[in-house]
Amino acid sequence: MAYPNAVLASNEHVSTQCSEHDALIIIADDFSTLSNSPLQQAIAEQAAVDSRIFKQVTLLVIDNKRVIIAPTGPLTRDYDDVRRYFDVAKLAITEAKASGSVNPVIYIANKTNDSRYQYALEVAYLGACQALWQPLEAREFHGDAIEPITQIGLVDANPDTLNAVNAIAAGQYAARDLCGTEPERMAPPRFAQYCIDLFKDSSVAVDVIDDINAIDKDYPMLSTVARASYAVERHHPRVVKLEYVPQGEITRTLMFVGKGLVYDTGGADLKVGGYMAGMSRDKGGAASVAGFMKSVADFKPTGVKVVAYLAVVRNSIGSDCFVPDEIITSREGVRVRIGNTDAEGRLAMGDLLSEIKDLAKSQVNPTLFTVATLTGHAARAVGPYGAYVENGPARSAQVSRSIADCGDLWADGAEVSRSRREDYDFVKPRTLADDVLSSNNAASAVTARGHQFPMAFLAKVGGLDKHGNDSTQPLPYVHMDIAGSGVENGDWQHGKPTAASIASLFARYCL
Ligand SMILES: [Zn+2]
Repeated sequence: MAYPNAVLASNEHVSTQCSEHDALIIIADDFSTLSNSPLQQAIAEQAAVDSRIFKQVTLLVIDNKRVIIAPTGPLTRDYDDVRRYFDVAKLAITEAKASGSVNPVIYIANKTNDSRYQYALEVAYLGACQALWQPLEAREFHGDAIEPITQIGLVDANPDTLNAVNAIAAGQYAARDLCGTEPERMAPPRFAQYCIDLFKDSSVAVDVIDDINAIDKDYPMLSTVARASYAVERHHPRVVKLEYVPQGEITRTLMFVGKGLVYDTGGADLKVGGYMAGMSRDKGGAASVAGFMKSVADFKPTGVKVVAYLAVVRNSIGSDCFVPDEIITSREGVRVRIGNTDAEGRLAMGDLLSEIKDLAKSQVNPTLFTVATLTGHAARAVGPYGAYVENGPARSAQVSRSIADCGDLWADGAEVSRSRREDYDFVKPRTLADDVLSSNNAASAVTARGHQFPMAFLAKVGGLDKHGNDSTQPLPYVHMDIAGSGVENGDWQHGKPTAASIASLFARYCL
């Protein structure tokens, strides 16, 4: 199992005479000014008899060499972004692989000075990696030969960013594995084992909590979600804790909680009408956090400490499943009225958020995150982007904006909104019997502020409502809902996982 390595290639490889690479992928918005004029002439001759060339991805054979022409389309309009390179690289590498290439090289011609495209080559490479990844179950059945491309040359790549893109690719690869795998192969104990193997002999320490009694005692809301899975030992929950401590001085601490629902049946509020298929991908948040840690482990950034807690659990249905109306007292001492058992991700993460918040108080310059495929509303509201909702201290520090701006440069976009009073009103208690309501009973996609109000719930059960700008110890907190961005084309059952938010977090905090 491996992602294709990015390696530096010189301009001399932009030639049909190159013996090292078996396919030359040329990406450009305009092909009229290639540096190699014999090559340009040969392409022009073929274009004279094939009008598809320069309009769509086409494979040419020139001097017995594969040359793949990959046009980006327009790049200058307000709404164009670097995904033009990401998307065309996916198509081009798919052509290269289908034609038998195992060692292609990517060249970007007619480079623009537009700052939107400053990482175009790196992004094209990451697009190629996205297209080449094959599901873990497929590799385990067919063998690694279904991923024949093990290396990709990048012409004139910046040597300073080569290590970084390899680290991002490694993290994204792991995240796709963790998110994209069926519920038995990636049941909680096996999810935890994947993490143990992933970080073996690395700079990231792994601690797995597998004792059900400890989970019942320390994480009562997570335990509530897991309850029905206790009947089946191989479905038992795990809490996976990851920690990276940099060499030298620490100037910033990133603290993540990831939602790792290896399967979400909805519980007693069962997903009916065909809405359950694809719910093995409800672990995408934990997968992205673990993937980000893999990028960190490989890159070893200085100054940044990273702590991550992953709630890895199955929301099953059975005679001991939790039901709406129950009141659960959380780790924070908050009495939580269950509104709907399909709103389980916020319960699974809430106690871990409370715990990591307590740890945050003693850390250097901490920022807290929850990362989750939380709501259908996020996908409905913002489409294929991350949906970030932040508290006052995070807003003051422009945390979400700065991550989303990095995302725009790395084909990993997000939209930012803020926590509002309506969100807190929405989850307020209706009687003295409880302190907070976990959810309403309509689909989030038809609920006003359906992806924002869960952040208010998380803030309350995580105790972060006591760490706003008005407190003596403000703690920046961003809730990242990746339900719309986590899988390609919003196809939860079949779309490839995108490893959403890894590239932007890495670009923001590690580059
Ligand atoms: Zn659910």
